[in-house]
Amino acid sequence: MYPWLASTLAQLKQRLGQQLLHHGLLFIADKGVGEHQLIDQLVKSLLCATKEACGTCKACKLFEAKSHPDMHYVVSDKPSIGVDLIRQVSQFVTTTSQMLGNKVVIIENIDLMTEAASNSLLKTLEEPSQNTYILLTTTKPNSLLATITSRCEKIRLILPCTDDSMMWLASQTESPLSKEGLLAFSGSAIDYLSSMNNDGVNYGLFCDDLESLLQGRTNELLLAEKNKAHASLVLLWTYQKAVLIYKKQMEDVSKLPANNAISNLQRTQYAECLVFDCQQANKKIAQAGINKSLILQQIFHKFKQVSLIH
Ligand SMILES: [Zn+2]
Repeated sequence: MYPWLASTLAQLKQRLGQQLLHHGLLFIADKGVGEHQLIDQLVKSLLCATKEACGTCKACKLFEAKSHPDMHYVVSDKPSIGVDLIRQVSQFVTTTSQMLGNKVVIIENIDLMTEAASNSLLKTLEEPSQNTYILLTTTKPNSLLATITSRCEKIRLILPCTDDSMMWLASQTESPLSKEGLLAFSGSAIDYLSSMNNDGVNYGLFCDDLESLLQGRTNELLLAEKNKAHASLVLLWTYQKAVLIYKKQMEDVSKLPANNAISNLQRTQYAECLVFDCQQANKKIAQAGINKSLILQQIFHKFKQVSLIH
């Protein structure tokens, strides 16, 4: 279990043991916090004959084989969760438990529910069935109906602080790590780590490539061709680097005497412009048929200009 989620899981399991667990649990997760692992463990405990996720009882074995009959996992193959999927939940909830224990429904990213689906789920939450638990997750709590959130117990899953994340990362990999790299993944140590384990795209290598660009060892075209398959991700990284450059320049300006500050303030506009351009580029590459390599080339060219300006 990820160390930053361990105490939350322990509390939930304790309340399960005391039969004090709410029937509707809404997990409000920071992006990349690793909520799946916590939910898996909680579901296993809910279904287990001993409520301890023992790993040896029949329920645990069925759970591990992903074939427990009293577990219903809502998976949508569309960008939204439609009412048909939630109707299946309502049906599942009214049936009798086949293993004579708890029944569990898991719906991830409930912010993707259509309005009709939300209303349907609301009815299910309003009429709790015995021994049935509904576990919901979202990273966007503000997009939910207030009536849904108010019917659930809300559990916040928060990313650990930078120092704790770096410490955990150091225990997981021997690859070089940087706080800047962690920031590029919005503070998610899990996402940062998985990028290092993925041959196709790697933050550390990308930073090295940008450095090579600045030193003239590679050019915008080569770099764009190399990265066009994951253009969105490298644009995010470039955007975050641009934000850092901008912040640094603003800091420098604030330290200067007032008569020098104005000309230096003009310099920061280039970085500010790059931040904006990265955002625009990210929207553009989502369009079908767009030349991603060309867009990346333009961004890398601007990045080079901004970085070499001082
Ligand atoms: Zn068990």
